[in-house]
Amino acid sequence: MTDSSATVRPDRRAELAAGLAQVRTRIVDACVDAGRDPADVTMIAVTKTYPAGDVLALAGLGVTDMGENRDQEAAGKAAEVAAAGVRPRWHFIGQLQRNKARSVVRYADVVHSVDSARLARALATAAADRERPLDVLLQVSIDGDAARGGALPGSAEPDVGLESVAEAVAGAPALRLAGLMAVAPLGWEPERAFARLAEVVAAFRAVHPGATALSAGMSGDLEIAIRYGATHVRVGSALLGMRSTLR
Ligand SMILES: *Cc1c(COP(=O)(O)O)cnc(C)c1O
Repeated sequence: MTDSSATVRPDRRAELAAGLAQVRTRIVDACVDAGRDPADVTMIAVTKTYPAGDVLALAGLGVTDMGENRDQEAAGKAAEVAAAGVRPRWHFIGQLQRNKARSVVRYADVVHSVDSARLARALATAAADRERPLDVLLQVSIDGDAARGGALPGSAEPDVGLESVAEAVAGAPALRLAGLMAVAPLGWEPERAFARLAEVVAAFRAVHPGATALSAGMSGDLEIAIRYGATHVRVGSALLGMRSTLR
């Protein structure tokens, strides 16, 4: 960790401001097209692979929510940002191993990727002495392929069936069941994926009316996700630039 990593050059700030203006316009336009209020859609800036300086610059431009997908990187970045006196809402959006739960609950405000009852229980234990409950979204599998992550809607499987995971979260005082999250499966048209997701969401909310959040949509498909009800879009490359690694 060096001082220079938490500062950002004026040209980078201008680049981020331009990316942000474009993404904000896309979100507003998508909301107008869908007859929705833009205030009901939160943009999460996915800062993975980018330095703490970019987070500080985005925060300075008014971005309140940041997303990360690897604990080791996120923990260091969150600490660096906090040391600069900035406290965004941190969303953990990546696949999470149970042995990382203790670390993640220290900096994350929301975990989007809970897809098993065992992971929910590990988070509940880890979050037991937090001041506020940890907001949890259940990641659902749209294509029913459990190997690719995501709880299975309509399955009675005790660990990865969506209702089992929901019960594990709802029964834990340290966790708050906030909603659902999904990623459009590779090879699926986003339209078909998010239409299917909207059906899962409707059925889920009938049982869990407080679980109102829907995290769906990324740089390439946020308009379609908003059309199908996304309340949180997770935007990386359209905001910060293409990442050199595939994640
Ligand atoms: C990286 C990532 C994103 C952002 O993807 P972009 O295509 O760069 O916008 C969104 N969600 C998850 C789960 C991610 O890992």
